[in-house]
Amino acid sequence: MKYLRLAIDLDGVVANFNAGWIRFYNRDFDADLTVDLVDGWDVIPRITHFAHMGQFWDWAADLDGASLFRHLDTFPDAVPALEDLERRGHHIAIVTSKPEFAVHDTFCWIGERRIPTTEVHVTEDKPSVSADVFLDDAPHQLRRLRRSRPESVVVRFVRPWNGPLPGVEDIHDWDEFVALVDALSTVD
Ligand SMILES: [Mg+2]
Repeated sequence: MKYLRLAIDLDGVVANFNAGWIRFYNRDFDADLTVDLVDGWDVIPRITHFAHMGQFWDWAADLDGASLFRHLDTFPDAVPALEDLERRGHHIAIVTSKPEFAVHDTFCWIGERRIPTTEVHVTEDKPSVSADVFLDDAPHQLRRLRRSRPESVVVRFVRPWNGPLPGVEDIHDWDEFVALVDALSTVD
């Protein structure tokens, strides 16, 4: 049994970013968007009135006194799965890329949602963190991690906005991720 260092992304993996921004968007702009419209990585300017992401982030920086990221819900199975993994002795490092305005809200959110972790990196440079296993949903991050961390297992959380990549493992839900970590931790 090996204890593994797990680098876990937040948005799209633990935090339901799309459900969160769509809920506020529909409220603020009297719109009727649904999460299934998010079928690509850069769809926000296409499905909203925002001309570019700068306008979106200006809006998302202050919603009811905190940034969007403070308001996000967790995916239902995410925290129990992370708790399981921690209980089995694995180390959970959160590795998340956030706009600068959201850094403090991210630390608050991790505490408020009781995410089981003792190590948090807020960085766009995810390969700068060492880990046995990286779990992410962002196509550019998965590509970069695969290239820069040849010794690590890189895992894609399969979502409508990403696609298969050579050398990257796929999981579709948190049960599959726990099973994958179990398998990796029992191999020599
Ligand atoms: Mg993500």
